[in-house]
Amino acid sequence: MSGPVVRFAPSPTGLIHIGNARTALLNALYARKAGGTFILRLDDTDRARSEERFAEAIKQDLVWLGIPPDKIEKQSARVARYEAALEKLCGMNRVYACYETEEELDRKRKRQLGRGLPPVYDRAALAMSDEDRAKYESGGRKPYWRFKLDHRLVKWNDLVRGEISIDTASLSDPVICRADGTWLYSMSSVIDDIDMNVTHVIRGEDHITNTAAQLDMFDALGGKAPVFAHHNLLTLPGGEGLSKRFGSLSIQSLCQAGHEALAIAAAAVLTGTSLAVEPVQTLDALADKIDFKKISHGPARFDPADLDALTAKTLHGETYASVAERLDALGVGGGEKFWLAVRGNLARLSDAKDWWEVVSAPMASQIANEDRDFCKLAEALLPAEPWSGKVWDEWLAAIKPAANRKGRELFHPLRIALTGRENGPELRALLPLIGRARASARLRGETA
Ligand code: GLU
Repeated sequence: MSGPVVRFAPSPTGLIHIGNARTALLNALYARKAGGTFILRLDDTDRARSEERFAEAIKQDLVWLGIPPDKIEKQSARVARYEAALEKLCGMNRVYACYETEEELDRKRKRQLGRGLPPVYDRAALAMSDEDRAKYESGGRKPYWRFKLDHRLVKWNDLVRGEISIDTASLSDPVICRADGTWLYSMSSVIDDIDMNVTHVIRGEDHITNTAAQLDMFDALGGKAPVFAHHNLLTLPGGEGLSKRFGSLSIQSLCQAGHEALAIAAAAVLTGTSLAVEPVQTLDALADKIDFKKISHGPARFDPADLDALTAKTLHGETYASVAERLDALGVGGGEKFWLAVRGNLARLSDAKDWWEVVSAPMASQIANEDRDFCKLAEALLPAEPWSGKVWDEWLAAIKPAANRKGRELFHPLRIALTGRENGPELRALLPLIGRARASARLRGETA
């Protein structure tokens, strides 16, 4: 018996943001932990708005996040399957053709709201005679299709929210296919979930009412309903949805802004749960933290400003092996020794490049006039090579009595002379990376 099958089903009509990444990660990591399968299902039946470049970008974003899909499916390739299901449901009187235009439907809704009624579709199309239909058709109108809900109390045990029950009599019969023949995910999702043996549907709580209608569809289609888990949605601190800040919170922009994928993943998954939002070193560690019962029922408020600290903290704990390739690509050398020396001072991985230059590229002297003699003295006391692992301590032990300086007066000029910077990683770790020849020249005030 294989593990769970889950799917992330975005429509490729735009880039995905960190809120969508929450859904993707919850699915992928759930599958990973249980040895299951993670499907990327592109809900691309809306041909006018779906674009290949967005489908491509979504795939790349998932790869960047560390959750490449095990399989990719496209709804646009499965239309024949949906049409067959429509025919079957037609024979069972579970779908019906409707002819209202958008404007007519809108007027109906407004009238209902004006009378204080919920804007539920009145099933007027069900009462139409064959002549009515023929009149519409001869006038050039094409039908759109609705699924006829079996009005009853639908119940399920949601992995996040526990027992949920919804009376489908309070819902509009869902539109499943538009007049132009395009399919909505309302029913195509159900057909896909059945055909793809999806065992768990993990998605945002904005889909809770859809689930009630879709459970009715699973029954009508004779399929086994998956288990559902509806997670809360990420919002900005004021409660607004992420769409408002969409651009800067797309996975692509967060990546371009130099954020660590693991930091984004931790923020996406842990915000809005009873767990602390803290850095993780691997996605497996993040997967281990996932527990649907720990997801809050309120909104998952998230402050984009926290991502900077989370990215920095993630870097500070990153092993050399996990970043070696990216350091190579940045032209940063020095191996593990260099990485361990500088990682605690990085806000972004690209900062490593600056530190690599500090230890390996010529730098103009920044020594203040009043420190020149002190630096010369320190230079004369630099231990001879080969250096032991304790070169820094040996050197300081020699400088202190000779210069009669301590604290900032002692360290700051050495830092300026050796690195040209006010702050940075410990000199103890940097000195061996700079090496004797360069350190010596820099202490003499030369460009080196
Ligand atoms: N395309 C739908 C959405 O992104 C899919 C919903 C689902 O997961 O079934 O909202």
